[in-house]
This record gives sequence, structure tokens and C-alpha cells, in this order.
Amino acid sequence: MDLVLFGRQGSGKGTQGKFFTERYGLTPFVTGDELRKLAALDSELGRKIKSIIEAGHLVPNEVVMEIIENFMNNLEEGKSVLFDGIPRKMEQAESFNALMKKLNREFSGVLIEIGEKTAIFRLTSRRMCAKCKAIYPAKYDKESCEECGGELETRQDDANMDAIRTRLDAYENETVPAINMYREMDKIIEINGEQDIEVVNQDAFAVLDPLFGVSN
Ligand SMILES: [Zn+2]
Repeated sequence: MDLVLFGRQGSGKGTQGKFFTERYGLTPFVTGDELRKLAALDSELGRKIKSIIEAGHLVPNEVVMEIIENFMNNLEEGKSVLFDGIPRKMEQAESFNALMKKLNREFSGVLIEIGEKTAIFRLTSRRMCAKCKAIYPAKYDKESCEECGGELETRQDDANMDAIRTRLDAYENETVPAINMYREMDKIIEINGEQDIEVVNQDAFAVLDPLFGVSN
């Protein structure tokens, strides 16, 4: 069973994804990493990707699907995959479904659900180290960076607010319709992401453990 992670920015889905990867021995599919890896290869797909990147173009959907197919074909026997950030919109979800069907893979979506208000609060109240750029959540209450002792600063400037707004709008307009489609297909496991990270994790494990045949 492969997993597809969904959630607004600030939902903590990246952190949960790491927990899932570890507990269930999943192989993460990271689009950027695969692009870089393939672009360095002297293969047909590698050369295609290299020329797209060099031209500064966005990687078209059908090429993303080729990359996923290539990844799945090279996967160790019996391994499950964790997708994060794919599919991002309806068109991509439809080609993703077709590809998974062709490859004979079962998947389930895990939605770490938080409201827009929580997303905005979390994204604007976290602080970044001025020196090493480490990010700290709102509840980290120390004055300086744990890693390097640098000063922590918030980013409540307009440019940052605009960037957050743009990302949340894209999620609402592009990703939510895809999630709704999966909900209708009964392929969405929804976890309340408004809770503490540990509680979110417990809730997720409670639902996912039986799917992966893990008992605690
Ligand atoms: Zn630092």
C-alpha cells in the first residue's frame, strides 16, 4: 500500500511523513531529488529532463508521470512508497490514478487537516535563525538558535504574507478538488492536524498500523 500525503502548508505533513517512512519502511518519492538524479544520467529520460531544466521550463505533467513510473520500476520488491506534494492538482491526480492502475499499485491518501486560520498562524508565528536559517515553530520559546546560537526573527513582512496567501490559494483552488475526488473514491484517511504533533502522530498510527499489518 502506497501513501499520498495531503495537507495545507503548516499542517506538519512533512514531519508526519518522516514518522510514517520510519515506522512502515516506506520509500519517499521526492520530485526534486528524482529530477536531479535523472538529469545527471545519460538516458533518454535523463536527457529530456536536462533540456527542460536548462530551458528553465516547468516539468510537464506527462514527464512527471514518466519519472514516477521510472521510480516505481526501480523500486525494491515489496516496498511501499510515500508521495508528498504529488498529485498537486486535478489533472495530475487523474494521470497519477491511471499510472498507479497501470502499475497495479494500491494507494491511500492521508490528509493532515488544518484550517486556513491555523495555517496562517503557524506560518507567520514561526521564527527563523538569522545565521543558519533553521526554522522554529511558535511554541519554541527560547531567544536563540539551538544549533548555532544565532538570533531568531519572525517574518511578518508583506512579501512573506503574500507568498503564504499565494500558496494557500493554490492549495484551495487546485489541490482541494483533487482531495475531494479521492474522498468520493473513499481513498482519504483524514487526521485532525490542529492537535499537537505527538497526538496527530498517534491518531495517524492508529489508522495506518492495521493497513501495514503493524501492531504495537
Ligand atoms: Zn542557527
